[in-house]
Amino acid sequence: MRSGYVAIVGRPNVGKSTLLNRLIGQKISITSSRPQTTRHRILGISTRPDAQIVYIDTPGLHLGSRRAMNRVMNRAAAGTLEEADLAVFVVEVPQWTEEDEHVLGLLREAGIPVVLAINKVDRLTDKSRLLPYIASLRDRHEFADVVPLSALKGTQVEGFEEVVARLLPEGPALFPEDQVTDRSERFLVAELVREQLMRRLGQEVPYGTAVEIENYAEEEGLVRIAALIWVERDGHKAIVIGKGGKMLKAIGQDARLAMERLLGTRVYLQLWVKVKENWSDDERALRGLGYE
Ligand code: GDP
Ligand code: MG
Repeated sequence: MRSGYVAIVGRPNVGKSTLLNRLIGQKISITSSRPQTTRHRILGISTRPDAQIVYIDTPGLHLGSRRAMNRVMNRAAAGTLEEADLAVFVVEVPQWTEEDEHVLGLLREAGIPVVLAINKVDRLTDKSRLLPYIASLRDRHEFADVVPLSALKGTQVEGFEEVVARLLPEGPALFPEDQVTDRSERFLVAELVREQLMRRLGQEVPYGTAVEIENYAEEEGLVRIAALIWVERDGHKAIVIGKGGKMLKAIGQDARLAMERLLGTRVYLQLWVKVKENWSDDERALRGLGYE
């Protein structure tokens, strides 16, 4: 039996959370086409006959972190490397960027083995470009292994996990075999509301939102959930609610469906929107909302 912690790192938007969900087979980490969707460190536990792999999803490591929220997120990602046995460095085809280089620098400093996951290969129309790309990345660092894959389609994800399992140290399982994450259902449902905000709201609005669960009550065949959406300005509140409440209704509907899939039960969801100025640039307010 092998076991250990595997940090999933990379610049924002390369597909780290999509990969984690695919590996675990459940949506435990929210995803969207916007960078910085993931704000928390989330464990995803995969228990196999030969190994228990504890993946750590992280907010993307990015350059330029002036705002408190960005500082908190960078700390969460960098701190993860210190406790990991292995890192999975996620990049995407077809380009290597300055931010990728920055992440590789941090990985070199951490001095742990790195598996390079080259994601989004489904987007490559000209497959002949893949081999030269892999070769150019192998030149940059002595990776423990390099695996091209598609987290979205699931291509090569099983093969990838074989590679990861083989590289872990020998040891017993660290968590009960039926546990898939360290996060509570309360946390996961709050995130499912935030996922809708990230996916549906334009430009800067979603970055100023946070979600707090005010009530979570399990009843016979039903979970009753009340969630509060915090925004930074009155104008943002109007946008989240939308004309005649349309936006909030759509957010609520899709979040509820995702919650029902996750919890395997019916969900009754109520949403409210409240204004709290500049919470995302105030470290104390961030801690109050669960950002360590
Ligand atoms: P993260 O910021 O690294 O956690 O990235 P996410 O997992 O949130 O994904 C960012 C975006 O990339 C989302 O729109 C995903 O649907 C998309 N994505 C992730 N993996 C793949 C993939 O294998 N192929 C394609 N085409 N898109 C992907
Ligand atoms: Mg993410």
